Amino acid sequence: MVKENLEEVKKRIFKACKRAGRNPEEVTLIAVSKTKPADMITEAYNSGARDFGENKVQELTEKCLILPGDIRWHMIGHLQRNKVKQVVGMTALIHSVDSIRLAEQIQEEAAKKNVTVDILLEVNVAKEESKFGFNLDEAESAISEIATFQHVKIKGLMTIAPFVENPEENRPVFQKLNQLYIDMQRKNIDNVNMTVLSMGMTGDYEVAIEEGATLVRVGTGIFGTRYYMNT
Ligand SMILES: *Cc1c(COP(=O)(O)O)cnc(C)c1O
Repeated sequence: MVKENLEEVKKRIFKACKRAGRNPEEVTLIAVSKTKPADMITEAYNSGARDFGENKVQELTEKCLILPGDIRWHMIGHLQRNKVKQVVGMTALIHSVDSIRLAEQIQEEAAKKNVTVDILLEVNVAKEESKFGFNLDEAESAISEIATFQHVKIKGLMTIAPFVENPEENRPVFQKLNQLYIDMQRKNIDNVNMTVLSMGMTGDYEVAIEEGATLVRVGTGIFGTRYYMNT
């Protein structure tokens, strides 16, 4: 089933790109595998997926150890500072940098290991109380500050749009983030390489692509409904 779902999502990404006059190669699909077992990830891997998203440090590190080494792991969930040490060196990209202090912690651990960590700044475009991230009007100064950290490389922006029935409702959210993305590209800040715009999930990734997303994070649409158990 995973294989068929993956094909379907890819087809829709392709169509959304065509509608928007974009090259499908500009858009990377991240298969969000949180709560899903290794054998489902393997099925997606065998169907060609190489980018996977997880939101818990423990789960990410466990899966990373047992699954193929050429998988690019994306940390997409809120990251606590005391867990930074465990993920530095393990992730292709940390999408969820939501405070200066977190970026500082990443800088510190990355310096110790003498690596550079690619990150995205998480922006709470819709200003939802329940969500992490910088407000739109705080983002520029945060970027300027984090840009001075030598072992952290800002690659772009990420947002988690509100849960809505009709994905069209999120179009303005994606437009606002894309505008900030373009503005930041134009500023050409040293040590910042604005090339990644991570937005869109199962319910709204096609709209996100129409509004400029370069990474879409799709879980349910590939792996089915998630069941959370208290174990
Ligand atoms: C779970 C999650 C997703 C995937 O959500 P779906 O609606 O299942 O596609 C995407 N982004 C983040 C940050 C998530 O936590």
